[in-house]
Amino acid sequence: MIDLRSDTVTKPSEEMRKAMYDAEVGDDVYGEDPTVNKLEESAANILGKEDALFVTSGTQGNQIAGLVHCKPGQEVIMEAQAHIFLYEAAALSAFAGVQIKTLDGNNGAMNPGDVEAAIRGDDIHQPETGLICIENTHNKAGGAVIPLKNMQKIYQVSRDHAIPIHLDGARLFNASVASRTPVKEIAKYTDSVQFCLSKGLGAPVGSIIAGSSEFISQARKWRKRLGGGLRQVGVLAAPGIIALEEENIQHLEQDHENAKQLAEGLQNIEGIVVKNKVETNIVLVDITNSNKTTEHFINLLKEHNILTGAFGPNIIRFVTNNGITRNDVNNVLLAAQKIVNH
Ligand SMILES: *Cc1c(COP(=O)(O)O)cnc(C)c1O
Repeated sequence: MIDLRSDTVTKPSEEMRKAMYDAEVGDDVYGEDPTVNKLEESAANILGKEDALFVTSGTQGNQIAGLVHCKPGQEVIMEAQAHIFLYEAAALSAFAGVQIKTLDGNNGAMNPGDVEAAIRGDDIHQPETGLICIENTHNKAGGAVIPLKNMQKIYQVSRDHAIPIHLDGARLFNASVASRTPVKEIAKYTDSVQFCLSKGLGAPVGSIIAGSSEFISQARKWRKRLGGGLRQVGVLAAPGIIALEEENIQHLEQDHENAKQLAEGLQNIEGIVVKNKVETNIVLVDITNSNKTTEHFINLLKEHNILTGAFGPNIIRFVTNNGITRNDVNNVLLAAQKIVNH
């Protein structure tokens, strides 16, 4: 199977599995798991934050950030197609008791002026603005990298109004590699960051959140409340340490290159239109002119042992990942051509 449904389908390498087997462990709720401690320290260093915390998933990391930063009755500003808004089952509303204010963005990036205008004033009728969220890379915008300039400007707005910024950086390392900007440089314009170890970086489980020591100490408590205080969890943190090795991070470049090749090839097939500027590992294609429904097209790809996913009306998403080779890309292009010809 050529699995392009997501980069969450990546499986741990042999090296990761060995590290899991060999991991030194302890009770992490007591702070005694040396492998988790090492992962958290290494993540904090890479991100340039005081401290970091291993959490079960990206969704849990984003929720914890909302819970630490916000009080019930507040409002959180984010882009209209944000993962937190679309795909986290309204968790921020359910758990943190906040409402979300969405802003239409450009390729995933919010206009800093719009952000400033959306910040609530001192009015008894209105909620207070409690948090601004940015997503980089932006999933729904096809893995778009949010320009650093944009992040700087929104950061300035957030400082002017004393509102924290949380970065949903599930694919932050893709943004870093694609823009040749150290993650530190990107994370600098945020108060807290979440990134996934379990996507392109290839670890089987988990995400990291990072921020100030004060933020992480409160985050640790929220994680406990949510039932995320795990015990000998070094067996899951060990592959995370390997995921953060420079060589592994740089491997994302290959995923990006494969996505570009895939997009170029698909663009040349009549009836298929590539919808996004492919900057990282996501390709979105519109198949309206192939005269097939999205469901039918996806099923035909499946008959060629290719797995993809629907991503809106007439849109199919292809996500390259470390299980995909250049040869797989060529096979996908051959299959897509055959499907369109029939
Ligand atoms: C995948 C993803 C998440 C959630 O991560 P999970 O580990 O699946 O909970 C959050 N934000 C973005 C942008 C994502 O792509």
